Amino acid sequence: MSPMRSPSIVPMNNLPRRVRIWEVGPRDGLQNEASIIDTGTKIEFVNRLSDSGLPVIEATSFVRADRIPQLADGTEVMAGISRRSGTRYPVLVPNMKGLDAALAADAHDIAVFASATETFAERNLGRSLSNQMDMFAPVLDRARLDHIPVRGYVSMCFGDPWEGFVDPAKVVDVCVELVERGCSDVSLGDTIGVATPGQVQKLINMLVLARINVDRIGVHFHDTYGQALSNTLAALQSGVSTVDASAGGIGGCPYALSATGNLATEDLVWMLEGLGVETGVDLEKLTATSLWLANYLGRPVQSRVGQALTH
Ligand code: MG
Repeated sequence: MSPMRSPSIVPMNNLPRRVRIWEVGPRDGLQNEASIIDTGTKIEFVNRLSDSGLPVIEATSFVRADRIPQLADGTEVMAGISRRSGTRYPVLVPNMKGLDAALAADAHDIAVFASATETFAERNLGRSLSNQMDMFAPVLDRARLDHIPVRGYVSMCFGDPWEGFVDPAKVVDVCVELVERGCSDVSLGDTIGVATPGQVQKLINMLVLARINVDRIGVHFHDTYGQALSNTLAALQSGVSTVDASAGGIGGCPYALSATGNLATEDLVWMLEGLGVETGVDLEKLTATSLWLANYLGRPVQSRVGQALTH
């Protein structure tokens, strides 16, 4: 007896034909790793992900080294990776200093990080909710001049560990402002993984009513409460076609007590492949990459597909 290595393909109605997977493992995943990973391993991780066919790989971040020591080698990572033609390698930048470093490292795509709630804005950004845009405004202005696409991450879109459930109207306000100020995309983060599918569809419908094109909306689910794939399917049914995921499910959420973090990319690919939705990703290569990284980190892979294929 051996594990099944690919799903049976049975499509469902009213789903996008193709989904763009936005791989966040090298940035969102690794930044939550306690032990420092050497630069060569990070570069090999990105290169293996590129080779598995992922269209977008968030490669690193240009934040203050004392805030996130794990990603202090962003410049070396960007210089060391082999950029596959047609693949995007965005980087996270918090401010102008980060943007300068990102541009010097020849980044062509950036992301900024916003909050949907007052408490998280204060704790994570050191700003009030109404002032957080002041932080991004110069970055967005400069990116526009350089024709650099900017993704706006929005944290705590569904629930917040300090404030409880989040009013979707507040999330809409933050997303509309990000788009008006020049973000090309927004990514709706369920940072503590508490959302359920109805909540997801309600928020997406409200964003579309607020005239944010559904092609500009990405979803970023955490599996803390086991809802990440259900929420993804709900988002796809609402017309979303960009989904964030992390190879091997790496990246525990620092704001939730559980270690369970990002939706695992191979679990997402298994579902999409089974639905007949194109991703361009080679599931075998991707899973092998997650197993390789888990081996390096010295612990079992967290994804269900990774576990199924190793037992
Ligand atoms: Mg995440």
